[in-house]
Amino acid sequence: MVDTHVHLTMEDFPDREEIVKNFEIDGIEFVIEVGFDPVSSQKGADFSSKHSRVFSSVGIHPHDVKNKDGLEAIEKLLDSKKVVAIGEIGLDYYRDLSPRDLQKKYFEIQLEIAKNKKMPVILHVRDAYNDAYEIVKRFDVKGVLHSFNGQIEDLKNFLDLGFHIGVGGMATYKKNEELRKILSFAPLDRILTETDCPYLSPQPVRGKRNEPKYVRFAIETLCTVFKVSFEEIERITSQNAKNLFNITL
Ligand SMILES: [Zn+2]
Repeated sequence: MVDTHVHLTMEDFPDREEIVKNFEIDGIEFVIEVGFDPVSSQKGADFSSKHSRVFSSVGIHPHDVKNKDGLEAIEKLLDSKKVVAIGEIGLDYYRDLSPRDLQKKYFEIQLEIAKNKKMPVILHVRDAYNDAYEIVKRFDVKGVLHSFNGQIEDLKNFLDLGFHIGVGGMATYKKNEELRKILSFAPLDRILTETDCPYLSPQPVRGKRNEPKYVRFAIETLCTVFKVSFEEIERITSQNAKNLFNITL
């Protein structure tokens, strides 16, 4: 199993070394530690340099662009060996923690960097799929729409741009039957599995701290959506992640 979206360097994981040590037993092939500001990006890059099954992504989240700095630090980190993507970057009109014009500006700057560096992006988009699509289509980049929770048009738009679709806790929730129906329109070779741990614990462990090993519940959901075996989903989504992020183990 592959978890393409974790935040193990956050305070919620004082036992992060133990968690990584158990990856082999838990069946975790590798994870991507995703930064959201300069400090978390640095922590993630350091963490990934110490663990063979951890890769990292660096970037400034729309919530954090209000601090208006750190782009240079992010660019520098891109040369680290285990840094495989730029993210999470994007637009969040749901919580609106940063002014929208600033969100757009930093989103565009980081997409430009990704284009120039030929690196994939990890997108965080909430209640802003249209604006995000209009911006992303102007850049020659590929990547993943993390924790997708949009409409069928949004799915089609981003698939047309060559993007992958991140599936995690959201898709496991009982009430999200509509989302599962929408996901069934995506080709399986464009699906990535993720947890976003410690957030978004999947249905069977709701209320508990989320962890990489719970990515199995996303895979189980995909089994019912695509009517394919667990092993097949596991194999295909692992290969998808390796292809997108250019990962060889
Ligand atoms: Zn995240």
